[in-house]
Amino acid sequence: MSGITIALSKGRIFEETVPLLAAAGIVATDDPETSRKLILATNRADVRIVIVRASDVPTYVQYGAADLGIAGKDILLEHGGAGLYQPLDLQIARCRMMVAVRADFDYALAVRQGARLRVATKYLKTAREHFAAKGVHIDLIKLYGSMELAPLVGLADAIVDVVSSGNTLRANQLVAVEEIAPISARLVVNQAALKLKRRALQPVIDAFAVAAEQGHARR
Ligand code: AMP
Repeated sequence: MSGITIALSKGRIFEETVPLLAAAGIVATDDPETSRKLILATNRADVRIVIVRASDVPTYVQYGAADLGIAGKDILLEHGGAGLYQPLDLQIARCRMMVAVRADFDYALAVRQGARLRVATKYLKTAREHFAAKGVHIDLIKLYGSMELAPLVGLADAIVDVVSSGNTLRANQLVAVEEIAPISARLVVNQAALKLKRRALQPVIDAFAVAAEQGHARR
């Protein structure tokens, strides 16, 4: 397709992207929260939006099924970024990748004693690399959601998850003990599309850059 295809996920990323798209002169003609359509038309005949799972955004862009996408750094760390150009930190959907444990678990002592930790997470690569760098041995348990439950029912000693307000941790008597990385949403661009469709893509990328900068300055 000669036009531009943008991959977005529903929810927080979509909501926070709407103003950035508007700044680039792009307005979706359907609301993904109410429509079941997976391909959304926009006010521009040459621009369409595809709605995918947040963790699938890098894959669609890597293979060129979408030219652009917006994905959280948490997702990009797991994906690895192959085939993706990441020109912009959009400064939206900000949170932190953390290690958290039950409030009554002595994490520092367990690490000091060289105990083997059971870590539950959906962020396997991030967790593996973090603990390997610390020289802490772990058994990884893959989960797909509600990581906060795992330490409460004895499935794991620790979790690796993104934390925003910290309310979910607090409500479950968990405490964050280590920050792994600050997280925010990034614009990702297919590397080949950037070369082949530069004339169409560059103005959109530039408009995103200006809008992200202005949004950041307002916060
Ligand atoms: P919190 O505001 O810390 O209570 O976050 C609530 C839940 O939302 C956490 O369990 C996270 O998994 C999820 N979450 C928070 N911020 C983000 C984000 N920026 N991207 C993806 N998930 C998030």
